Amino acid sequence: MTTSAQLFEQACRHIPGGVNSPVRAFKGMNRPPVFMERALGACLFDVEGKRYVDYVGSWGPMITGHADPDVLGAVRERLDSGLSFGTPTAIETTMADLICEIIPSIEMVRMTSSGTEATMSAIRLARGVTGRDRIVKFEGNYHGHSDSLLVKAGSGALTHGEPSSPGVPASLAEQTITLPYNDIDAVEQCFEEIGSEVACIIVEPVAGNMNCIPPQPGFLEALRRVCNTHDSVLIFDEVMTGFRVALGGAQAHYGVKPDLTCLGKIVGGGMPVGAFGGSETIMSNISPLGPIYHAGTLSGNPLAMAAGVALLTKLRAPGFHNALAQRVDTLCHGLQERADAAGIDMITQRAGGMFGLFFTRQSRVDNFAQATACDDDAFRRFFTAMLDEGVYLAPSAFEAGFMSSAHTPEDIQLTLDGAEKAFASLSHR
Ligand code: PMP
Repeated sequence: MTTSAQLFEQACRHIPGGVNSPVRAFKGMNRPPVFMERALGACLFDVEGKRYVDYVGSWGPMITGHADPDVLGAVRERLDSGLSFGTPTAIETTMADLICEIIPSIEMVRMTSSGTEATMSAIRLARGVTGRDRIVKFEGNYHGHSDSLLVKAGSGALTHGEPSSPGVPASLAEQTITLPYNDIDAVEQCFEEIGSEVACIIVEPVAGNMNCIPPQPGFLEALRRVCNTHDSVLIFDEVMTGFRVALGGAQAHYGVKPDLTCLGKIVGGGMPVGAFGGSETIMSNISPLGPIYHAGTLSGNPLAMAAGVALLTKLRAPGFHNALAQRVDTLCHGLQERADAAGIDMITQRAGGMFGLFFTRQSRVDNFAQATACDDDAFRRFFTAMLDEGVYLAPSAFEAGFMSSAHTPEDIQLTLDGAEKAFASLSHR
């Protein structure tokens, strides 16, 4: 039997870091990543035959569990017709109609092949329609790896942004302003000073890339207000929250309507898909209707559309999202009880079908500074102990956890039993 450690060693020869996306490498965990072989329902099975209850769910898409028979069936049904034609196909219209029905702020939608492309294209559209270059984002929010968005805050709130990766031109990063999440004053001050230069605000309406941080009451509303006042475009990056926090995404859950919405993950049912959409007025500026360019050889790929349409259709079942949120509640309450009993400082935060664990004495975590102040070492030891117990959490303290409708009460109980032991091992050090 080839072990994960052996496969990782082989992978490192020709793949940088042995992985095709960095978080998979288990950096800082003092152990090689686990190579998975197959998945079913709530579980992953590694190459050594070990089973894990999975709370990553391919980073979000597997909301009805892995290898969902309806999704696989839809893909199988189309498979023999060919993989890609580079022409329009009817299922792209089915997908667009479905998205527009589920998310009323979207009247027109374009498909992409990733979340990164969705946010990149939405930013271009916002810049194109406003004729402005500057954009506002938030510290700790992640919107994919396009140049304008790989930018961190400069030393003061309104200073020019700095590239967060070598290779991002400083002249481009200067156009991106990064503000603290959940800080209405910072947003208002920024817009008072340079509102007329800002093309858009892009925000994760529930932050899922610095653990799980819901918006404070009034935060999303304030973003809507300043964008209205200054004719800037409000972009909700719902790549993570779309179809998960509620069927209609965070915008339905919190009742705030963005101008543009970016989607990914669930919208492709596990296939490489993203999307961006908004009102007909703004979307009709996209080529070929208008001058703002967007394209993609595999955008709207029929197999990917089949998977996404099958999954979205299932999520419309009445009560689906309530049941999902209840599972998250059961898990989070159970974890809290066990952490408290073991004397471990830990809190949980959640929104619909996503959740996060913070090893901290703070009573809540609202921004990046507070998220990074948590005990990273405690998280790492908890993560490793949980892996040994057969529970697969995101291998980073800065990623949200994802629940699926395939997680049974037994899966959750197994997780809580594992956590009891993991917390005990933390408190006995
Ligand atoms: N936006 C958000 C909120 C994300 O969480 C991610 C990926 N985790 C992206 C954009 C980028 O999506 P992709 O990895 O599909 O390019």
